[in-house]
This record gives sequence, C-alpha cells and structure tokens, in this order.
Amino acid sequence: TASLLFEKGSIGSLELDHRILMGSMHLGIESDRKQLNQLKAFYSERAKGGAALIITGGVAVLPEGGGDHMFCLTEQDHRAQLQELAEAVHQAGGKIALQLQHNGRYAKSSETGLAPVAPSPVMSKVTKETPIELSVKGIQEIRDAFIEGAVFAKSAGFDAVEMMGSEGYLLNQFLSPLTNQRSDDYGGDFNKRMRLPLEIVSGIRERAGSDYPVIYRMSGDDYMEGSTTREETVEFAKQLVKYGVDALNVGVGWHESRIPTVAATVPAGAFSHVVSDIRQAVDVPVIGANRIHTPEVAEDMLKQQLMDFVAPARPWLADESFALKAKIGDREGLNMCISCNQECLDHTLGNPLLPVGCLVNPRTGHEWEWSLKSKDKNQKERKIAVVGGGVAGLAAAKAAAEQGGQVTLFEAKDQLGGHFLLASQIPGKDKFLETIRFYRTSLERLNVIVKLSTKPTIEELKVYDKVIIATGVKPYIPEHLKGANLPHVANYSDILSGKIPLGKRIAIVGGGGIGCDLAHLIAQANDMPADVKNFFGEYGVKVESPRRVDVTIISRSKRAAKGVGPTTRWVLLSELRRLGVNILKGFECHEITEEGVWVQSDEDRQFIEADQVIICAGQTADRELFDILKEHVPTEVIGGSFDASELNAAKAIRQAYDLVYNS
Ligand code: SF4
Repeated sequence: TASLLFEKGSIGSLELDHRILMGSMHLGIESDRKQLNQLKAFYSERAKGGAALIITGGVAVLPEGGGDHMFCLTEQDHRAQLQELAEAVHQAGGKIALQLQHNGRYAKSSETGLAPVAPSPVMSKVTKETPIELSVKGIQEIRDAFIEGAVFAKSAGFDAVEMMGSEGYLLNQFLSPLTNQRSDDYGGDFNKRMRLPLEIVSGIRERAGSDYPVIYRMSGDDYMEGSTTREETVEFAKQLVKYGVDALNVGVGWHESRIPTVAATVPAGAFSHVVSDIRQAVDVPVIGANRIHTPEVAEDMLKQQLMDFVAPARPWLADESFALKAKIGDREGLNMCISCNQECLDHTLGNPLLPVGCLVNPRTGHEWEWSLKSKDKNQKERKIAVVGGGVAGLAAAKAAAEQGGQVTLFEAKDQLGGHFLLASQIPGKDKFLETIRFYRTSLERLNVIVKLSTKPTIEELKVYDKVIIATGVKPYIPEHLKGANLPHVANYSDILSGKIPLGKRIAIVGGGGIGCDLAHLIAQANDMPADVKNFFGEYGVKVESPRRVDVTIISRSKRAAKGVGPTTRWVLLSELRRLGVNILKGFECHEITEEGVWVQSDEDRQFIEADQVIICAGQTADRELFDILKEHVPTEVIGGSFDASELNAAKAIRQAYDLVYNS
C-alpha cells in the first residue's frame, strides 16, 4: 500500500513535501556565535536528510523567560544569528519554523539572572523557586513580545512560527488552574485562563498577516492532577483555531508530572489517543510527537487517522536522514533512537551547560567539525584492525571506514554487540539490538571485514598500519571480600549471558546502574503479563501478582542508581518499588556466607538471606592485548578497555569517532 507519510500536506499557506517534521529541540549551543557554524551544520544536515519542516528549539521572547544557551529575541545579535540559520536551512533545501517560548515558572534565576515570573506565585518543583506574580502590564508585555516575535520570524525568513504552549511552560501555566490562581481578566474561569494565548494568536494574525503560517504547540494532557480538564483542552483547541492558528502540535505531560512520557519503557504511540481527541474537534492539521520513533509507528499513526503530521524529535538526533531513509525504505540503514536520553534530554533537563549529542550517533553535535568527507588523505588505503565488536569497536570501524581506511574487525564472540547485546535484555533496552543492527549494516556497506569468533594473534595484527583496541571490560570481583568465591556467587555478565541460572532469593551487591537494571530484569518475574492483568481487570477481579523472586539490592551509596540520568532514574526506581525490590541504601557488603550476606551501615548490621549473590561492583579494563601490542604496531585503546571506571556507551562511541576524526 502507498505510504501516507509521503503524501504532500500543508499548514495554512505553507506547502510541505510530506508528513514528517522535525520537532523542536534545544541543543545547548544556541546563542553562542562561535557555535553558529555547528548549529547551521546540524540543521542543514537534517534539511538534506528530508525533514519536511524543521521547528527550532524554543527561542525566548523575553530574557526572564529564557535560560542558558537559549536565543533571546531582545538580543540583536541573536536575531542576526537566527536569520543566518534560516538562510542556511533554505540553502540546504529545507523549511524552518521558529518556536517562540517563555519558560515562566520553569525559568531558573541562576541562568537568567532575573526572578522568574508566572501567572501566580506557585513554587516549581523543577526549579524549587517561587515565581513572582505577573502584573497585568507584565502580561501585556509578554503578549506583545510573542506577537513581535512572530513578526520577526516572518521578516527573518522563517517559513512559519510555533508558539510553545505545552510541557508546563508559561502559556500552559496560564491555562491551568494549578498555576493560574488569578482573579483578574487573565485568570479565574476558563475563558479568562485562555485569554493570554488567544490574544497572542489574534495579535499575530493582525501583525504578521492572515497567511503567515502559525502553529500552536498545546498540551493534550498535562498529566497533573487538578489541571485543565479534557473538555477544556478540546475547547481550547477549538478557540485557537477560531482565532486563526493553522495547525495544532500536541504535546503531553509537564516536567513535574509523574507519568513518564520520554522513558524507554513508554510504549510506542502511547499518547496518540490524546492527539486524536483534538483532531476530532478541529478542522486544521494536527501534529503528534511523543513516542513516534520509527517510520512504521509514524505510518501507523497516519493510517489510523490519529494525526495529520508527525514531528518526532530525538529520532532526528539519532539519524540525520530519518525521513529520507523512511522514504526510500532503507529501514536497515536507519540509526534508531533507543530512548536512553543519556546525551539529549538528560543534558537539556539535567545539565543545560552540556550540549546535546546522541549516544548512538556520535556525529550529532559535531557535524561541522566531523565532516563526512575524509580530512586525512593518508588515512585512505590504510589497513586498520579493530579488536572488539562492542559498540566502541563497531563505531571505530565505521568511522575509520568512512574515512577511507580498509578495516577489519575482530570479535571473540560469535555475535557483535558486546555489553550492549547483554544489556538488550533489560526492560526498555531491547532497542539496543537496533543499534547493533545499524552498525552491522553500516559495516557491511562500508566493506569492513568482520571476523567473528576470532581472537587475533600479535603476529596477525602486526601487518596492520594501525590497531584500535576495544576489548571492553571484565566484571570486577572484589577478591578480598570474604565468601566472594563461594559457588552461589555470580557476576552480572554470567547472569545476563544465561551462563548461570537464577536463584529465588537474590542479593545484588552494588546499587549502581547495572545492579538496578539487573534487579529490574530479574524482578519482572513478579509481574503478571499485561493481557492477563487486563483480563481480570475487565471482570473487576483484583489479583495479586505472583512473588517468584525476592530481590535485595545492597547499595553502598545512599542514592541508588546514582549514575543513571535524571529522566530515567525516577522511572527505574518506581518500577523497582512496584516489583517489590528491596533496596538497602548506605550498606556495605561485609561477608558472603552460604546462607546469605552480612551487610553493615554506619548504625546497623544485618543478615540478608540469599541463595544467590550477584556482584555488580563495577568492572576492570580488558587491555592485556593493548599492553603487548603497542610495542609492535601503532595502537590505540578506546571504550571500556581505555577507562573502565563507568560503563558509558556514549563516551565509548564518541571516543571512537574522536580518535578517527581527530587523529
Ligand atoms: Fe535517542 Fe539516546 Fe540519542 Fe537521545 S541520546 S536521541 S534518547 S538514542
């Protein structure tokens, strides 16, 4: 059947080639003129990669509504940079919309140097700050700044403008009774709460003209108890259309809500019903964004008539040619976003000073510096060996072959993927297999010779011009720990590879990311399959999940899953709670006996009964080969075999690219 994704579409007067847009993303390098070439390269590659319309990251309309590395329209130089950006995208054959934003009570005074403002002084759980209540004059200034922002967008050549009114930012705050407790013209009943966004839309229509394309990003559901109701949300959508918006882009959830919207465990297309509710009520195109991460899911959304356009964001970080590959049916060659958030949202929301990158695509954020063309002529025709087929080795082989090298990859196991392959069993990490598939396909296309089940000898490696060692890590077993050699003690790798069967009462020594992930996997045995749960639910029968395993995590730190990123950690911990995993925080493992584990905290000593003890106490670098080989051939070491202090796939992959492109 013909693809609906590649039918032409339009947003007001803006004609678009197809239905895949690129949703708004903040990259953490905006507003820095030194980074403008990089920003242009990032967007231009996505324009060439087929985005029908690119929506910029939010641009602050006023300084107090902005933040670190955000463009702000009160700065003349930022305006000039934005204009250059629009020109670059047009030169690359793309179209671009400017997103206007005001963070309201989500703004941080530490970033803006100004007190945050909002409809009412309701503390933000995200920033822990209480904003100042806006005066009517202050509200009108914001209104005028949005309107003027749209006028600027038009004059600077942007093809459309989008207002950020979801995810709990200022316009969303005006709509919600949770954050708008005013009793003047801009608060109180719903008509008054809608007033500011509607005044902005009608002002834009007046000033930017009747045919300038206007998109409103609205919240389909705030997932906040006591917030805007479903009926009100639908009514708001109708009003926006009445006042002149050309398309509605529907987001979900606030940054404070406790329903995961971006975690890997959220099912594909989970929020499409919210988008479709809005679509039923209006006669302008409706755009859906959340959890649409593959062309198949996108196509399905359109086929079911749940939305008119899709605007994925993270999938464009993972693959700059997302739409182009979807169009030519190159699913095998698509680098898929694995929803890890490690290099994107965990930076934006956790540490905005770190620019956005992508775990599976190390070129993201480096498009300018790491041009795909070979920089190093000598690299061509060079014979390069990569030892180790985990993600670091795979990435190094790909990068070296892209630069023209003749590459051979050796992997000791009979499959590629290393620790990534093992980790793909963890709930929410099954998409890791897609990354391995992508790299495998890329290597095939680049004519890399892959030798599985092969440990090369020093003699064999000596014939190469360069060898890259990516042999990874071995689980660390603390030999000094009494009882560590008992037969019921295993390491995480033994369990994940299925070498050792699982026990029933399990103590996991180590409460970092690996220990918690492993507990999540094991404790799933305590969950009832969703269809069984639904079946009983339909008949109103309350059933208790079975309790097949007892899992205790012994965490030395008082903060379990410490290294896991902020967008994922709370979801993981709440899953562990739901599955009945016991976490002992601030406890040191003292001794393992045949019956269990003695643990000790500052104040307490306890015995944890266990028939199996799994050590997740870190790892050591596997670099024997490197130490010998470096005497004979130019040899480099990357990934876990370079630094085993943490298992960080993002770092390992980036290091592989860094080595090839910068050496
Ligand atoms: Fe997706 Fe992870 Fe890349 Fe973010 S870092 S775009 S979540 S793969």
